[in-house]
Amino acid sequence: MKFDNTQKAYQLKTDRDLQKAYYLFLLFSNEKLVSIGSFVTRLILKMKLPVSYIFKITFFSQFCAGLNKKESLKAVDSLKSYKILSYLHYAVEAVKTEKGMEISKNNTLETLSFSKENKALPFSVFKATSLGPIKLFEKKSEGISFTDSERIEWERIQLRIDACCEAAKQIGVKMLIDAEESWIQPAIDEIAESLMEKYNKKTPVIYTTLQMYRKDRMIYMKNLYNKATKRGFKVGIKLVRGAYIEKENLKAYKLGKPSPICESKELTDQNFNNAIDYMLSKLNIGSLFMGSHNEQSILRVTEWMSQNKISKKHPHIWFSQLYGMADHISFNLASSGYQVVKYVPYGPVNEVIPYLIRRAEENTSIRGQTPRELSLIKKELKRRRTRVL
Ligand SMILES: Cc1cc2nc3c(=O)[nH]c(=O)nc-3n(C[C@H](O)[C@H](O)[C@H](O)COP(=O)(O)OP(=O)(O)OC[C@H]3O[C@@H](n4cnc5c(N)ncnc54)[C@H](O)[C@@H]3O)c2cc1C
Repeated sequence: MKFDNTQKAYQLKTDRDLQKAYYLFLLFSNEKLVSIGSFVTRLILKMKLPVSYIFKITFFSQFCAGLNKKESLKAVDSLKSYKILSYLHYAVEAVKTEKGMEISKNNTLETLSFSKENKALPFSVFKATSLGPIKLFEKKSEGISFTDSERIEWERIQLRIDACCEAAKQIGVKMLIDAEESWIQPAIDEIAESLMEKYNKKTPVIYTTLQMYRKDRMIYMKNLYNKATKRGFKVGIKLVRGAYIEKENLKAYKLGKPSPICESKELTDQNFNNAIDYMLSKLNIGSLFMGSHNEQSILRVTEWMSQNKISKKHPHIWFSQLYGMADHISFNLASSGYQVVKYVPYGPVNEVIPYLIRRAEENTSIRGQTPRELSLIKKELKRRRTRVL
C-alpha cells in the first residue's frame, strides 16, 4: 500500500485548487503567521466585519464542503465517485443556551436525514458539549452532585443525545461521539457506554472516541471490552491520537498535577499501536474506526489485514480523514478497496470560521503533516506541468 500516487490523490482538484492548497499549507507551516492570523480573525469575527468572501475562496473551499445541504451533498457525490464515503457535520458552533442546544440537536437530526437512502453517508457525528453546557459535564465528571434544576437539565441533555442516536439507528446510520477534554470526558464516557449498551446489541451503531495520547486509555479500552463481553453489546471505537494536547498540559501544569498526556510523541504512538493491535484481535466484539492522517498507523492496519487475509471491506474496519487534508491517504486507500470515510463539514462561512481556525492551528502544530502535504502538492503540480509540455 503506497500513498504517494498524487495523480489519484488530487483527482478532484483543478490546477487552481492545488495552487491555492499549496499556499494555504505554506501559510500553515509558519507558526507566527498562523498565530497572528488566528488572533486577527477572531477580532474580525467579534467586530462582525464583512470578510466572508475572502474566507470563502481561501480556507473555506479547502476545508468545508459547502454552505448548505445542496452544496455539501454535491461534494459527497464527487467523493463517492472515487469510492470515498462521507459523514457530514454542520460545523456551526451553537450558542451555549438551551435554545442553542436545541438548535444543535435539530441540526444533527437534519444532517442525519440526508443519509436516508444515501449509501455514501454511512456515519454521522456529534459533540456531546454541543447538546449540553460544559459546566454540567465538568460537574458530572468530577462526581459533584447536581442541584435539582441541574438534574432536570442533565436529563434534557441525555434526551437530546438519545434522540440523535435513536434517529441514527432508525435510518441505519452509525453514530460517532467525539472525544473532548479529559476533565469532561468521564461524563461523555458514561453516556457513550450506556448508549452502546442500548443500541449495539447486534452490531456497533454507537462509536465512542478514544484519544490515545492519554496515558489511561489502554486500560479504559480493555475494561470497555470486558464490560461489553459481560453485558452482551458490541464496542464501536473511533481511535484518534487526540487534539487538545496544549490545553491538557497547561491545565495540569496550572493545577500542579501530572499531565494525563503521554510524555512524548513516541509514547503516544506506542499507545496508539497497542490500541490498534488490541482492537484488531477482537474484531468479533468491536469495530475500529481510525481517525488518523499518520501513514505508519494506517499501514499497520492494512498490513495486518493482508497478512491475516481479512477482507478490505470488513464491516468492522474503517479509515477516516478530514475533508481537505490527507487526500493522498484517502484516495489511495479507497482506490485499493479499503473503506474510507471523509469527515465533511459544511455551514455558513462566518459561522464555521472557528472550525477553520482550529484546522489552521492544528496543521501548524502537527509538524510532520504539513511538509508532507506541501511536498505531495508540489509533486502533483510538477507532474501536471511536465505532462502538458
Ligand atoms: C476523522 C478524524 C476524527 C477526529 N476526531 C477527534 C475527536 O473526536 N477528538 C479529538 O481529540 N481529536 C480528534 N481528531 C484529531 C486527532 O486526535 C489528531 O489530533 C489528529 O488526527 C493528528 O493525529 P494523527 O494520528 O493524524 O497524526 P500524527 O501526526 O502522527 O500525530 C499528531 C498527534 O500526536 C500527539 N502528539 C504530538 N506531539 C506529542 C507529544 N510531544 N507528546 C504526546 N503526544 C503528542 C497529538 O495527539 C497530536 O495531535 C480526529 C481526527 C480525524 C482525522
